Amino acid sequence: MSNPLQGAQFVLAAHRISQLPADQGAEVAFAGRSNAGKSSALNALTNHKGLARTSKTPGRTQQMVAFSLPPHRDAQERPAPDLRLIDLPGYGYAKVPLDMREHWKQEIDAYLHQRRSLRGLVLIVDIRHPLKEFDRLMLQFCFDTQLPCHVLLTKADKISRGQAAQALAALRKQFAAENLSATAQVFSSSAGTGVEEARQAVMDLLAQPREGARQDRER
Ligand code: GDP
Repeated sequence: MSNPLQGAQFVLAAHRISQLPADQGAEVAFAGRSNAGKSSALNALTNHKGLARTSKTPGRTQQMVAFSLPPHRDAQERPAPDLRLIDLPGYGYAKVPLDMREHWKQEIDAYLHQRRSLRGLVLIVDIRHPLKEFDRLMLQFCFDTQLPCHVLLTKADKISRGQAAQALAALRKQFAAENLSATAQVFSSSAGTGVEEARQAVMDLLAQPREGARQDRER
């Protein structure tokens, strides 16, 4: 099966949302705690080993990075709008200085609330350590802004298939109990588990209709 994310290219790295590419077309953002496996997931999904690492040269590590996808056609064979993937910094990590974390918390909050071309979030979570504070914050942002969220439970190769299935079931149960409409799957960049499913999930998010300005939900 051909890979719809093949051919992704680095566009720019931004310190503020105002520096991102023009807010048109459609994009999907990737978030995850540092070390969760976000770069590896982006590289596996795009089938481009050095893609996310390119953006990880020193000094760029705490930036939002935009990647463009090659031109696509929609189901009716019409040219699809500009499509992008946005790599968000993982500020939930203890080693990131407090003021930096605060900066990104605010910037990501603003991005998720204001970005009109944003169609969905892919949240990368280490399957062995699900839903840390950072992940919960991201899910809450998605809930507040009615933004679809798809969770990749990654590094699944580090546990047995049975344990992975259990972790997925537990997470889905938790979503249901907390009334969160996020979807989730098992993933491994190393073993290639769930890569096709995740590519399809990204394409499905990109094809979501634009809801105009998404409204904040009543808490
Ligand atoms: P990021 O900080 O979230 O971008 O994480 P990276 O993608 O740089 O991965 C952090 C570490 O986890 C690296 O040592 C990767 O080789 C490793 N890693 C990432 N994904 C996987 C995976 O699916 N399986 C295994 N076993 N290791 C992984």
